Amino acid sequence: MTKHILIVGGGIGGTMTANHLVTKLYPEIQRGKVTVTLLSNSPWHYFKPAFMYVAFNSFYLDELRRKQRTLLRPEVEFVIDEVQHFDFSANRLECSSGKHYGYDYLVVATGCVPAPERIEGLPEAGDHFYQYQPARRLAEKLMSIEKGRIFITVNFPKTHNVPHQCGIAPIETTLMVDELMRQRGVRNQVEIVYTYPTVAQLLRNCLFLQEETCEVLPSIFEDRGIHYQRGFTLAQVDPDRRIAYSEEGREEEFDILMGTPPIRAVNAVLNSGASQAADNEGWLPTDHETMKVYGLDNVYVLGDTVDLPISKAGGSCHSQSPVVVNNLAGEIRFGKPVDAYDGRVVAIAQMGLENGMPLWYDYEVDVKPTPPNKLGGLMRKGFNRGVYWSVARGLV
Ligand SMILES: Cc1cc2nc3c(=O)[nH]c(=O)nc-3n(C[C@H](O)[C@H](O)[C@H](O)COP(=O)(O)OP(=O)(O)OC[C@H]3O[C@@H](n4cnc5c(N)ncnc54)[C@H](O)[C@@H]3O)c2cc1C
Repeated sequence: MTKHILIVGGGIGGTMTANHLVTKLYPEIQRGKVTVTLLSNSPWHYFKPAFMYVAFNSFYLDELRRKQRTLLRPEVEFVIDEVQHFDFSANRLECSSGKHYGYDYLVVATGCVPAPERIEGLPEAGDHFYQYQPARRLAEKLMSIEKGRIFITVNFPKTHNVPHQCGIAPIETTLMVDELMRQRGVRNQVEIVYTYPTVAQLLRNCLFLQEETCEVLPSIFEDRGIHYQRGFTLAQVDPDRRIAYSEEGREEEFDILMGTPPIRAVNAVLNSGASQAADNEGWLPTDHETMKVYGLDNVYVLGDTVDLPISKAGGSCHSQSPVVVNNLAGEIRFGKPVDAYDGRVVAIAQMGLENGMPLWYDYEVDVKPTPPNKLGGLMRKGFNRGVYWSVARGLV
């Protein structure tokens, strides 16, 4: 009997997985024993990290997206529709078109969404770079500020030991802001303040979510005249007075409030009943090794929707996707999962406008920070402008 694998979400996690599945299960697909469908609510695939560059006017809309169909192997059926309801007990999805889609195996790769509305005053007064339009608005402010205070905040999910999206992004963008202000000749009139919440995953009173990186950050910031504060957990914002209030009782003025906003899973996952995450954040309970959703034997999850303690990053999807694929192939060929995820994340951090720093870590070993350099910056540019699309196609 034909086994049908249905992947939901046309981001980096879903796209890589669809393409890798065809490579892995090619004999079965050719014989009609396996079919692979990718269902997404958009005809477009967005290279999301580019939104960060949009905030610095260095990436444009047509460069950062491609038609989803062009990224998929021809053997993958592509459906544009939006899941409204996951009916796990019946192995089917209900979509906004009114159609239902069944499956033997399901892969959830629906990502996460910014939720600034979870902090009072933040939608009105705050700016972020995690989506295209907000990043465009931030770019206008960063390009026009002549003097004042840029105040940077980072919000973690309330779910224990789950990080925000792309752990390094707040540092990357702080260094980019510093360089941009220098390029614009206004750095002496603009104060930059980087803050970090009291609780950052398992750490307390740090500047980053991993210890060794925390230790090198003060000298990096001091060299550039960037001020920093530990223990600032954003609680509320007064848009009229332009004041950010912290849970720890501090009040800070700002001209631009640039933040990593709260995040949550998409509505269909939030409402699926499969998550017990804190504050209705919706992360799916994920087996750290198999990448299966606990309690749902034929459902896998990867990317930003997991509740794992590792970065919500494309560099995580890159390591998770082959595990999901091997385990699906294992189930189809041998009746059981055969591979285990070790928590590996690989990325190149953008350190300022031109420099880069390759980084990797896993469940056991933290990032070892190395001096950022131009070669790293070149690797990051190469990834941003081209290699990413080969990664999505499952070629790299
Ligand atoms: C500004 C920024 C900078 C970043 N920088 C880096 C970086 O330097 N390095 C790095 O590795 N990562 C970085 N990331 C993180 C990275 O982009 C994400 O971790 C990655 O995109 C997650 O992939 P995903 O497939 O889980 O989700 P997504 O890429 O978000 O894809 C989700 C897909 O699901 C679809 N979808 C959602 N809901 C439904 C529904 N109900 N029905 C059907 N389809 C649905 C969406 O349309 C989308 O196609 C950054 C992210 C941002 C925003």
